[in-house]
Amino acid sequence: MPKPHKNSAAKDIVRLLAGAAEALIVSHTAPDGDTLGSALALAWTLEARGTAVVCFAADKAPANLRFLPGLERIVHTPPPTPPLVIFIDCADAARAGFRPELPPGGTTINIDHHVSNDFFADWNYVDTKAAATGEIMYGLLRRLGPIRDARTALCLYTAIVTDTGRFSFGNTTARSLRIAAALRPYVDVAELNETIYERRSLAQVRLLERALARLTFTADDRVAFVPLSVEDYAAAGAELNMSESVINYIRAIQGVEAAVLLKEAAPGLIRVSMRSNGAADVNRVAGRFQGGGHRRAAGCVCRGELGPVTEEVLRALKEEMDSGRDN
Ligand code: AMP
Ligand code: MN
Ligand code: MN
Repeated sequence: MPKPHKNSAAKDIVRLLAGAAEALIVSHTAPDGDTLGSALALAWTLEARGTAVVCFAADKAPANLRFLPGLERIVHTPPPTPPLVIFIDCADAARAGFRPELPPGGTTINIDHHVSNDFFADWNYVDTKAAATGEIMYGLLRRLGPIRDARTALCLYTAIVTDTGRFSFGNTTARSLRIAAALRPYVDVAELNETIYERRSLAQVRLLERALARLTFTADDRVAFVPLSVEDYAAAGAELNMSESVINYIRAIQGVEAAVLLKEAAPGLIRVSMRSNGAADVNRVAGRFQGGGHRRAAGCVCRGELGPVTEEVLRALKEEMDSGRDN
């Protein structure tokens, strides 16, 4: 039977966190600023209170996030299951990408903001109104006292900056800005912006060049998409996580209602990113492929060759756009 989608009380989550002697903090695959920043902020806070913390992410962080304090301590192979396992910014348990599977045993906590969250843990704390899991984490950590540690503040600020697109996406609320204001004294925002957004490796630019060369339109030019093959990454000398910014170029094209980036992570394994500028609910499209996310930003992982997967995803997207029109 599916678990009821019900949140636990913040005070109970905090009690569990604060009382843990040992904890495993888990970020999602292909980690971003929100999952890493929120995880590390929690790690710094719990550690200061005496918890033995291990942080796990299946994949490496992108180069522009390597400045995050504590990032170097993130392990990429799952350790033995501790009594408490905390999933950060993961809509479902599979998002953690444990390879091999984490042996059961620990109490699980799920802290997240995705509408597609399936309340998979023993204790769930999901707020879909939060622009970033970093906002939720801020609220939880504040219950343990004022945030005065610069590393924790930088991690939380990064989580919120990245998931709000530098406070520009529609998910940005007064709460996002109030939290940012509270953290601002501890953060060099100009330097942070430089580091995250204004420095690119040549490989990244070469990859962008190839991506733009692959740009294709469909559905009366309302959908733009880019398939990037293993060969594209190799030819550019780029890693998979260097294509994160490509989707923003596609989405920004005038008249484009939905953008799709298909990244061949390994032969037969395609990571799909989708963005919507309006009517199309890309979370629903991603859901058809066991993925998820938000209404205007979602993703999924598909098995198959790049060409057929591209066709399949575009077909699903067009169906969703057409059905949206009828409603
Ligand atoms: P991305 O395109 O990777 O930037 O992801 C956009 C949004 O969709 C983020 O909120 C992700 O957490 C979510 N997302 C991406 N891939 C997946 C997936 N395979 N399963 C569930 N959610 C995903
Ligand atoms: Mn994320
Ligand atoms: Mn997030």
